[in-house]
Amino acid sequence: MDYDFVVIGAGPVGSLLAQRLTQGGASVLIIEEHAQIGRPFQCAGLVNPEAMEIVGLHDTVLTPIWGARIHGPSGEVVSIGSTDTVRTWSVCRKLFDESILESAVDSGADLWLSSSPISAEQDDSEVSIKISTPDGEKTVRCSMLCGADGAHSWVRRRFRMGRPKEMIVGFQIEVSGYVGEEGKLDMYTGSEIAPGFFAWAIPSGDTTRIGVWSKAELLEGKSPEQLLKTLMYNSQWSHRFSDCREVGRFCGPVPSGLVKRPLKGRVMLFGDAAGLCKPTTGGGIGPGFKHVETMISDLLRRVEGELTQVQLDSIVAEKHKSIRKDQGRAKALRDAFLTQMGDEELDQVFSVWSKPEVTELINEVGEIENPIPLGIRMLREVPEFKSLARRAVKAVLWG
Ligand SMILES: Cc1cc2nc3c(=O)[nH]c(=O)nc-3n(C[C@H](O)[C@H](O)[C@H](O)COP(=O)(O)OP(=O)(O)OC[C@H]3O[C@@H](n4cnc5c(N)ncnc54)[C@H](O)[C@@H]3O)c2cc1C
Repeated sequence: MDYDFVVIGAGPVGSLLAQRLTQGGASVLIIEEHAQIGRPFQCAGLVNPEAMEIVGLHDTVLTPIWGARIHGPSGEVVSIGSTDTVRTWSVCRKLFDESILESAVDSGADLWLSSSPISAEQDDSEVSIKISTPDGEKTVRCSMLCGADGAHSWVRRRFRMGRPKEMIVGFQIEVSGYVGEEGKLDMYTGSEIAPGFFAWAIPSGDTTRIGVWSKAELLEGKSPEQLLKTLMYNSQWSHRFSDCREVGRFCGPVPSGLVKRPLKGRVMLFGDAAGLCKPTTGGGIGPGFKHVETMISDLLRRVEGELTQVQLDSIVAEKHKSIRKDQGRAKALRDAFLTQMGDEELDQVFSVWSKPEVTELINEVGEIENPIPLGIRMLREVPEFKSLARRAVKAVLWG
């Protein structure tokens, strides 16, 4: 065997996985198709505190985000957060990705840049991968193959491991000159701007990342770029964008909903390849990291021969079941509170959210990455949401 593990993809999730595996004593090869790391990236650069804790990369932070202004379709604003608690970090993704990879390589992982798999076969004892490299084709044999190769994962397609339940389209530009509030991100809703989802403006040091995400079937023929233009030039908030100058643009899918078979024999998927993005925010780094941390000891025990394939299958299936359940509940709440609501209904929700006692509840229990506790408290405690409760509870229980 050449390596215990081959990891395809040196994004944040693949690099963290490689680092943890090498730290656990395994030999690891990372394959990355690009010549440099963190480019191109499709990301608003938000890293939640839990994920930041795992990698400790505070020196990659451009702006600490402590609050948010959430805008209803007719202009109602709900302002949340307080300066004493950082809710999420806006980072430089290039530095962030590079630093994680660097620590994987420092721990002993090998890295092949400008390389990608051409074919792969697995049997009971190994996976054999043919790889295109700048020095020609090479064949590598390993105990396990890990696909951390992003939304369009080659590994996932090669081994027919299923598809993420939702592919939400994200489009974003980076601008100078946006008029926002320091340390606060802005979220904008409304069918003209982000049907079923939301648009955002996120401070990132000297610039701001302005983006939108939605599902193709909700766009009614419009492109996400058109939606963003509506927000910037033809909405009640356009004055905030009048001095904006574009310095970069990014477009990409947000795969959400764990694929059917994330583990197939000696092949396993991680991060976007597995469909791990949060249905509520699109964040993929946090859930991707958490997944790695949850699985690492089982993978190491498998290659050390302490677990049989049958044992690994059953442990992993149990863990994936709980991830699937959490994602399903979060999606159900998102659908009930956002995606399935018309503008009028959303306006009503915002008029309730903006009441001081409800804003207080949001500040107390609200967590961008885990909206379930807040959603449930609101449905229980806010009388105006009683009519919504039935739909939401049904969705959360059975969705
Ligand atoms: C517009 C937008 C905004 C977003 N904002 C946020 C945000 O604010 N916060 C957040 O947490 N998430 C955000 N996301 C999601 C986030 O970008 C991803 O979840 C995250 O990058 C996933 O990391 P990953 O390592 O799984 O995959 P990726 O970052 O996609 O990395 C995959 C790596 O694999 C490489 N690769 C792909 N195919 C091959 C191949 N065949 N051979 C070799 N290498 C290959 C790629 O070059 C890449 O380096 C956003 C997504 C979009 C589209």
